[in-house]
Amino acid sequence: MARTRLLLDQQVNCPGLLASGGPASVLSWTTQRRFRAPGDGMAVQQRGRGGPLGRPGPARNENPVDDVHEQVDQAAAVLGLRASEVELLKQPRRQVIVSLPIRMDDGELRIFTGYRVLHDNTRGPGKGGIRYHPAVDLDEVKALAAWMSWKCALVDVAFGGAKGGITCDPKGFSEGELERLTRRYTAEIFDLIGPTLDIPAPDVGTDSRVMAWVLDTYSMKKGYVEPGVVTGKPLLLGGSQGREAATGRGLLVTTREALRHLGRTFQGAHIVVQGFGNVGSNAARLLAQAGMRVIAVSDVRGGVLNQHGLDVPRLLLYYKETGSVLGFPGSAPLTNDELLSLECDVLMPCALEAQITEHNADRIRARLVVEGANGPTTSEADEILVARGIPTVPDIMANAGGVVVSYFEWVQDRYGYFWPEVEVNSRLEEKMVAAYGALREAADRYNLGYDLRTAAYTVGLSRLVESRRLRGLYA
Ligand code: NAD
Repeated sequence: MARTRLLLDQQVNCPGLLASGGPASVLSWTTQRRFRAPGDGMAVQQRGRGGPLGRPGPARNENPVDDVHEQVDQAAAVLGLRASEVELLKQPRRQVIVSLPIRMDDGELRIFTGYRVLHDNTRGPGKGGIRYHPAVDLDEVKALAAWMSWKCALVDVAFGGAKGGITCDPKGFSEGELERLTRRYTAEIFDLIGPTLDIPAPDVGTDSRVMAWVLDTYSMKKGYVEPGVVTGKPLLLGGSQGREAATGRGLLVTTREALRHLGRTFQGAHIVVQGFGNVGSNAARLLAQAGMRVIAVSDVRGGVLNQHGLDVPRLLLYYKETGSVLGFPGSAPLTNDELLSLECDVLMPCALEAQITEHNADRIRARLVVEGANGPTTSEADEILVARGIPTVPDIMANAGGVVVSYFEWVQDRYGYFWPEVEVNSRLEEKMVAAYGALREAADRYNLGYDLRTAAYTVGLSRLVESRRLRGLYA
């Protein structure tokens, strides 16, 4: 850890403060604006969302850490948490910055900066991806780590929240440069990661190949193979069946549960999917298979529409061959903007952050939005949708299928026995149904109306706070 700089080691597990401190101040809700959602109870006005790189949080603050603080305050106000409890939730347990000198292919030495943040490990080891992107910085990683804490608590997997990243543009790297960077980063954070400490996974700019290099570097230093150090790795190295389609499958379960909750029909319901990558294409395939009518999909170049329903298996083959959905036989072309305002039962943004904004939220004609991407709805748009009576199932619930199957991958690695895909899928379904049930109960209990986002955050935060209370304060 020669180059590792431990910036802070915050005392996070200190609920004893709550028991022994002076009169606990309960946050008031006076700063929250409230309004009535049509046909429903009082709804909390949701604050900003959807910053750069699809972070699942507010966008009104320049610094994503301020977003985290706002969200915590908002959910804490609903829950009536004490100020000391709220402060604890805002602080990461550990933040690390490492310098990474890399010999590039042209012989030049370049020094990159890497990060790993452990936000919480109250209920299990930290869990969170490694991001390679030019915009990565400590605050972004801190915010992403906190959001992982809420997501893992909401879907009730025995993980805390973590995240890591390197400020770099991986698109410009050769395979050798990417491998050297990954191995050096892994060596620098070697003491901080591991199956019982903190488990990385792929994120923006990284993939299963990068995870294989992390696994190899870690295992070589340990002297034995340790598959449980990362998830999202190749099947041959201890990856899980079902991991690739897991986020799409989780979206299928969430959509079905949300429609049931809202008293709407699933079979034959019209769905529009923006984005046809890993998340969007798997979701469209599975939703069509389950009986929904996928009337439009898009990629970065534009969309295709068929009001009678697209033939999704054929569209997948067409996309593989041509690299785009555009020109698919039997469909009409449309722009991404037109696609978002199509009349439909479910709109599923699965591409990027900030796709539904204050500029188009008034034109959304979906009856339900289910967020496949991270942060596709801005704060302003969120408020407009709630006011218009259009519920949104938030990203931390809707796209959590990926982290759930990452959890299963870790469990399988740890006992060295691997489940068939059918078992992975059935356990995934169980977890997603339970999480949606908890969200629905919270929405009812706190009279949140169509604000399913705040409902989701209250579930995650309350589980974390209660777990910390149970553990008490060490020393
Ligand atoms: P991907 O790169 O595989 O696919 C992205 C898709 O969006 C592509 O089809 C691309 O053409 C399309 N796209 C890009 N820009 C667009 C635009 N302006 N308009 C319309 N379409 C556009 O990425 P992915 O893994 O499918 O991830 C998509 C989103 O889901 C991201 O926000 C990601 O953070 C989130 N997410 C992914 C996973 C996962 O398991 N892959 C899990 C949770 C959340």
